[in-house]
Amino acid sequence: MTEQNAIQAGWNLDNSYTRLPAIFYAKLTPPPVRSPKLAVLNAPLAAALGLDAEALRSSDGAAVFAGNRIPEGAEPLAQAYAGHQFGHFTMLGDGRALLLGEQITPGGERFDIQLKGSGRTPYSRGGDGRAALGPMLREYIISEAMHALGIPTTCSLAVTTTGESVFREAELPGAVLTRVAASHLRVGTFQYAANWGKAEDLKALADYALQKHYPEADAAENRYLALLQGVIKRQAALIAQWQLVGFIHGVMNTDNMAISGETIDYGPCAFMDAYNPSTVFSSIDAQGRYAYGNQPRIGAWNLARLAESILPLLHADEDQAVQLAEGAIAEYFELYQRNWLSGMRAKLGLFHVEEQDDSLIEGLLTMMQKHGADYTNTFRALTLEKPEDTVFYGTEPFSRWYEQWQERLGRQPESQDDARQLMRSSNPAVIPRNHRVEEALDAAVMHEDYSVMERLLEALANPYAYAAEQAEYCSLPVPSAYPYRTYCGT
Ligand code: AMP
Ligand code: MG
Repeated sequence: MTEQNAIQAGWNLDNSYTRLPAIFYAKLTPPPVRSPKLAVLNAPLAAALGLDAEALRSSDGAAVFAGNRIPEGAEPLAQAYAGHQFGHFTMLGDGRALLLGEQITPGGERFDIQLKGSGRTPYSRGGDGRAALGPMLREYIISEAMHALGIPTTCSLAVTTTGESVFREAELPGAVLTRVAASHLRVGTFQYAANWGKAEDLKALADYALQKHYPEADAAENRYLALLQGVIKRQAALIAQWQLVGFIHGVMNTDNMAISGETIDYGPCAFMDAYNPSTVFSSIDAQGRYAYGNQPRIGAWNLARLAESILPLLHADEDQAVQLAEGAIAEYFELYQRNWLSGMRAKLGLFHVEEQDDSLIEGLLTMMQKHGADYTNTFRALTLEKPEDTVFYGTEPFSRWYEQWQERLGRQPESQDDARQLMRSSNPAVIPRNHRVEEALDAAVMHEDYSVMERLLEALANPYAYAAEQAEYCSLPVPSAYPYRTYCGT
C-alpha cells in the first residue's frame, strides 16, 4: 500500500496479541487473492474507527480487506484455540481468519481487525481457508441487526469479493469479511492454554484478558476470580438479550463464546419466528443441543469450561479453587434469570417487580407456544395496542390474560405513556427475518444486485422505530412445506 493511502485511510494498527507467548498464534502473510473488489463497506463503523470511507473504497482499500496488502503496523496472525464442539473437545485455531492487529481509534480505544476467509492457516485442518460470499454477507447483515438491537456483538466493516471461486456443494463466489471485535479471545483460548500451555502461558493470557476487558477487576483481591465473575456477568446479560429478541446462535461451541461478552461467529444463527423453545435451524444440530430454550444452560456449561481452565489461577488449593468456581457458576443462573425477567417486564411495559410477574409472563409464552404465535409480532401487536392482531385474539385464555395484564399496568404509578415508551424500546418491530435475509442474499450473490440488501439494512438499523414504511419487514413469509435451515462453516 502506498504510504499516502495508508495515511488517508487512517489505519493505525498495533497487534498486542504478538506480545503473548508464542504458543498462542502463528504469524503468517495471507496468500493474495486474484482480484479484490469491495462489495459492502460499513461507513459509520469506518468513521467510528477513525478510518476514511472514501480511501477504503479505493483499490488499495479493497487490497487491504482481501489480505493482498498489509497496512503498516499490522502483523497478521492466526490465533490458536481449542474448543468443545457439540460437547467434544478438539484442538482448533483460526482455520480461515487472520488477525491484522488492533485499530487504535482517535479516542485511544483498540478494536481487533480480522480477515475471515483470507486463506489457509496452520489450523485449517482439512479446510480451504476460504469463505463464500453469501455466508459473509449473511454475517454482515445479522451482526449489523444485532448491533442496532443494542446487543453486544462483533461488527462487520466490509465484505470484499476475491474474484476466485470456492467449492462447496456448488461453485460459489469467494469473499473475505473484515470483522471488528473488542477481541477474539474465546473460552476456547483458555481451554487451549490449560491443555497445551505451561502455567505461565495461562497466567499471561488471563492477565491480557483482564487488562483488555476487565481493567476494574485487576485491582480485586482475587483478580482471576474477578475475571471469571466479569465474564459470567456479561454472558448472563448477553444470553438474556438473545432470548428476549428470539436470537438463536446455533453453534454455541466453547470456541464461539467471547471473553469480551460479545456475540461472535455468525454461522447457522437465525431469529425464531413462531415461539417454541425447541426451535433449531442449524442443519447439523440434529439433537437440538443449541435449541433456543437450551441457550441459557449451554452458556453455563461453557462458562464452567472456562472456570475449569483457570482453576490453578483461582486458588493454590484445588478444593478451594473448585469451590470458588462453583460459586461463580451458581451466580450465573441468578444473574441470567434477573436479566431475563427484567427484560420481559420491560417488554410488557412493567417498571417494578411484583411476585406474580413470573406467571403473567409464563401465561403469555404458553399461549404463544400453543398457537404457534410469531414471537416478535405478538409483542409488536401488544406494543401497538392491537391485541386483535395476535393469533389468539378472541380466545378465553387470552381475554383473561389481557385483563390481568391491564390491571397489572394500572397498578403501577408510571403513566400509560411511559409504559408504551418502555414497550417500544424493548420490543423490536423489525428483525432480520429469514425470508428477507435470503431474498437480499439471492439478489446480491446471484445478480450482483445489492439494493435489496441495502434496503433491508436500512430497516434493520432502526428496529425500534415503529415507522410505517418499515411495515413490509414485519410480515411473515408465505407458509412453506420446508422448515428454514442454516449451515455452518460455509
Ligand atoms: P466455526 O464453525 O465458524 O466456528 O468454525 C469452526 C472452526 O473451523 C474454526 O476454527 C474455523 O476457523 C474453522 N473453519 C471453518 N471453515 C473453514 C474453512 N473453510 N477452512 C478452514 N478452516 C475453517
Ligand atoms: Mg468459530
